[in-house]
Amino acid sequence: MEYDIIVIGGAAAGLTAALYSARQGMKTLVITKDIGGQALLTNEIQNYPGYDLVDGFSLLNKFREEAEAFGSEFLYDEVTSLKKENDKFILKTNDKEIISRAVILAFGKTPRDLNVPGETSFKGHGVSYCAICDGPLFRNRDVAVYGNGEHAIQAVIYLSSVVKKVYFITRAKKIIGDDELVSTLNSLKNVEIFKDSSLLSISGDTSVKSIKIKDNSSGIERDINTGAVFAEMGYIARTDFVKGIVKLNESNEIIVDSYCKTSEEGIFACGDVTNTPYKQVVISAGHGATAALSAYNYVQNKKGKVASKSDWKLVNTVKTK
Ligand SMILES: Cc1cc2nc3c(=O)[nH]c(=O)nc-3n(C[C@H](O)[C@H](O)[C@H](O)COP(=O)(O)OP(=O)(O)OC[C@H]3O[C@@H](n4cnc5c(N)ncnc54)[C@H](O)[C@@H]3O)c2cc1C
Repeated sequence: MEYDIIVIGGAAAGLTAALYSARQGMKTLVITKDIGGQALLTNEIQNYPGYDLVDGFSLLNKFREEAEAFGSEFLYDEVTSLKKENDKFILKTNDKEIISRAVILAFGKTPRDLNVPGETSFKGHGVSYCAICDGPLFRNRDVAVYGNGEHAIQAVIYLSSVVKKVYFITRAKKIIGDDELVSTLNSLKNVEIFKDSSLLSISGDTSVKSIKIKDNSSGIERDINTGAVFAEMGYIARTDFVKGIVKLNESNEIIVDSYCKTSEEGIFACGDVTNTPYKQVVISAGHGATAALSAYNYVQNKKGKVASKSDWKLVNTVKTK
């Protein structure tokens, strides 16, 4: 099966790219592990134009419906490799090989691992990367959150409303963030905070039962009984499978120009996975539209048809180190 444009990632950037691509008449396939990406992690998006307040699932599901209505096809799988052969791209997923004339990389960011003993064996059995998704599973139980920054604080505040008690373990010596968030955190009676502390290990049997933490200044270690550990260590671009194909920056983000072109002709990228400085739903959506229009022009040129913009080489302004 051959497509004009394959979009990798089915969230704000990828779904908007698919909508624009299919609407331009391109045979379009979205390959994605899920619908919604990071937006699924929040049930309160207040800054998407046109909505006072919307939860991530509802908003992104609407994006999917629109992309589908214009004819985009969907494959729920993970892309594991990408290579160029004779001006076409070959994408491998866990069990398929698919060909495309152009590719749009829209695979966003994923939560950073905890990198402690027990993490791998208890993934899905008490180790979680999504407080909103998994918090309700631990209703009336004690849980721990390990991480820093506002995402971690938001996770603690949310969890405190659904579980019995939250242990918040953070390397930070001082809790810094939006004043309102920090004061809400400090007002919560069922939250115990361990500052300047590290998570050493996670233990249990069939699921998490306890964690070991260390106070970094005194070196004192202690065990905490908990049914879950929520990782809130920030997000990283997992761009390994495109390393050596497109240029990346020092944070492993894909470098794009204002047309969402990467350093490789025919490969476009958009949203959080790129070096765009601000990471938001509306920004990823706009970026997705740009990437799709650029990909459309590229494919039209390759087909010898009229496109609305000039040749790839003339407009490719990606600057790489
Ligand atoms: C807790 C939290 C709260 C937030 N709140 C807001 C907010 O209120 N307002 C706002 O504007 N933004 C918010 N954001 C940021 C916003 O969610 C992101 O900027 C946006 O989701 C980025 O969209 P994206 O499409 O670029 O990438 P992502 O949302 O990261 O989606 C990437 C997609 O690619 C898929 N994927 C990844 N790798 C592969 C692969 N190899 N093969 C196939 N598919 C793959 C994923 O499954 C996913 O569907 C929040 C983020 C978080 C984490």
